[in-house]
Amino acid sequence: MAYEWDRLRVPGELSDFEQKWARRNDPYCFSGVWRFHDLLPFAPLRQCVTVGEGQTLLHPSEGVARYVGITPGRLYLQYEGMNPSGSFKDNGMSAAFSHARMVGARRAACASTGNTSASLALYCSVTRLMKAVIFIGSGKISYGKLSQALDYGALTVQIAGDFDDAMARVQEVSRELGIYLVNSVNPFRLEGQKTIMFRVLEALGWQPPDWIVVPGGNLGNSSAFGKAFHELHELGLIDRIPRLAVINAAGANTLYELVEHRGLRWNAGRPNLDVSDAYFAEMNAKHERASTLASAIEINRPVNLTKCIRALEWCDGVVREVTDQEILDAKAQVGAGGMGCEPASAASVAGAKKLAAEGLIASDDRVVCILTGHQLKDPTATVAYHSGDPKKFEEVLGSRGVETTQFANHPVAVPNNLDKIIEAINTHDH
Ligand SMILES: *Cc1c(COP(=O)(O)O)cnc(C)c1O
Repeated sequence: MAYEWDRLRVPGELSDFEQKWARRNDPYCFSGVWRFHDLLPFAPLRQCVTVGEGQTLLHPSEGVARYVGITPGRLYLQYEGMNPSGSFKDNGMSAAFSHARMVGARRAACASTGNTSASLALYCSVTRLMKAVIFIGSGKISYGKLSQALDYGALTVQIAGDFDDAMARVQEVSRELGIYLVNSVNPFRLEGQKTIMFRVLEALGWQPPDWIVVPGGNLGNSSAFGKAFHELHELGLIDRIPRLAVINAAGANTLYELVEHRGLRWNAGRPNLDVSDAYFAEMNAKHERASTLASAIEINRPVNLTKCIRALEWCDGVVREVTDQEILDAKAQVGAGGMGCEPASAASVAGAKKLAAEGLIASDDRVVCILTGHQLKDPTATVAYHSGDPKKFEEVLGSRGVETTQFANHPVAVPNNLDKIIEAINTHDH
């Protein structure tokens, strides 16, 4: 989506947005998305829908900085789990929902690994503007997320298949029934997700960090972040673009494979898509399925692949893959040194650690890891980890390759006896 900026009112400096803070009683000034409306002006402001999204926090975490291997004070966690439905998806949903309303939609649909559906269901239930239709695969949707869709009253269709199957079906069904589709193929979602970067800049006094590290699933965030920085740079609002690191789970590593091993590039607008076509053909022939316990990024055919390649070009980006083991260990560190996150989110921290070990991230670099979803989204994985028994992952989550739980904080079992309880507390006190 391109704007004719010359014909629009754009602030002279990013700090001009601070004027909105004084008018927080206006929902559009309060919204962490719509206070930046001037930078995503696809609809008149009065048409835009807000439920109070984007009240997020950029938090420096010394413990996580030490874990990642950089100077304490230089690593920041961007807590997108603080959004109304508990994930960053609300940023994009407020924008897509606004567009759906503009075009008079009565129903909106999505396929989801859980968080998009939770977000859509919430916007529908709070605003009463539309009915939500949600497609989920019958695989590993976490109960936290499924419970939201059900609780908010969305029509929830569970397909016998995985996310990639649900994604293909929802596109057919939406076309057939004329339902508005809010999946991340929807370009308006990416417009809303740009504001995550605006809030990161806002929290850093409008100084771009050195690195943005983000998990990669359908690649909506990475695409949106690249577009945000590219536009800010073109508008002269920033003088330097941070580097972007997109982190795949090893069990769903399409982007990593294509960019780091097969040379897929943006090529000034003529990406060599024969490379990705061949890869997907191989994948189909082998009936290969994505597999990671980071269910929010368990995606093998990312819909925003081309836009992400463009973002990597704009931001001098890199892609890495991390194992489920690395994800869970990083997640435990985020929980112990901050407010916690769901498994997929911790891929950003695990990826930063990898890049610091390679020396690509320098110890004094300012690094922002995006924590995409709330700690409570997926308690099963957290409790399984802290039980200290790696076999649980196979049992409860069907995921292999988790061998150790080195940061586990196990519950201490004691008989119901005062002396034994006191003894246990004294023994385990640390
Ligand atoms: C959707 C989601 C992702 C993946 O983001 P993309 O923009 O699709 O790459 C990562 N983490 C969480 C928690 C999510 O909900």
